[in-house]
Amino acid sequence: MEELLDKLLEECRGYTGQGRVATYIPELAKANPRDLGISVLNSDGRHYQSGDWHKRFTIQSVVKPILLLQALMDNGEEYVHARVGVEATGKPFDAINVTDQMLRSDHLNPMVNMGAIAMCTLIRGSSYEERFQRVLELTRRLAGDPDIYVDEAVYCSEKRTGSKNRALAYLLQSCGMITDDVEEVLDCYFKACSISVNCRDLASIAFVLASRGRLPQTEERVFPSQYARYVNAVLMTCGMYDGSGDFAVNVGVPAKSGVGGGIMAVVPTRMGIGIYAPALDAKGNSLAGIQVLKGLSEKLYLSIF
Ligand code: GLU
Repeated sequence: MEELLDKLLEECRGYTGQGRVATYIPELAKANPRDLGISVLNSDGRHYQSGDWHKRFTIQSVVKPILLLQALMDNGEEYVHARVGVEATGKPFDAINVTDQMLRSDHLNPMVNMGAIAMCTLIRGSSYEERFQRVLELTRRLAGDPDIYVDEAVYCSEKRTGSKNRALAYLLQSCGMITDDVEEVLDCYFKACSISVNCRDLASIAFVLASRGRLPQTEERVFPSQYARYVNAVLMTCGMYDGSGDFAVNVGVPAKSGVGGGIMAVVPTRMGIGIYAPALDAKGNSLAGIQVLKGLSEKLYLSIF
């Protein structure tokens, strides 16, 4: 497996030159566009890795499935679904997903910013700091890494420049979908996006979703299997922003990307995959990362279709 990963990275390295690192959060612009790494946690219990798999980056939108999981664990499926729908929007991650009608829950999707911001209000906690800490704890537990921390520089950068996310949150408030203090809700969201991870962490988190809620080493259950079904289905239809359809055709597994350059891919019952390549395509997905996944899917017949 390691040989295969080395070969794929070698073949796809050229693609890193075709993308661009995100600049709308100034701190993200510092990433090296040439970086490319992968980690796979296989059902044999072993991690296989190659390239810059150990480099740290911020989780960004890859935290959205974790926010969704925490909300499901706190409230159950019916409650969450009634407040944030699951219809694929076909729109970019920061889209203002309303036309002239009043915003409704089925206009929201947990993988698009507006829905993810709303998701923060569904997580239990006596303060938004406590809610965030619970998300951080869940991330550590799923990744099997108690040292995962927040990248303060990215968090501050995001908080300072996040006007669009502020606009989205205030729109939610104006429609009665946020009743708490908007800045506190956003603070929880910005911190969650700024959690620092590496490919191995993402592979481990993906593995728990692939094994329907069980941790790799101990097989301890973290969440009921129906929540894995829920999250994986949402990832399949909207995890790769408005590139989800192409990704379903070319790779064919549930996955989530983030503007930090990470992709977490879930191969049900078989493996968890974490990728890092911060040069992005026009839709905000890791350009080389998708190529690596496409190659891996072809070689190992990973597509679920
Ligand atoms: N923190 C980023 C934002 O909300 C996340 C975007 C992303 O990774 O898609 O703008």
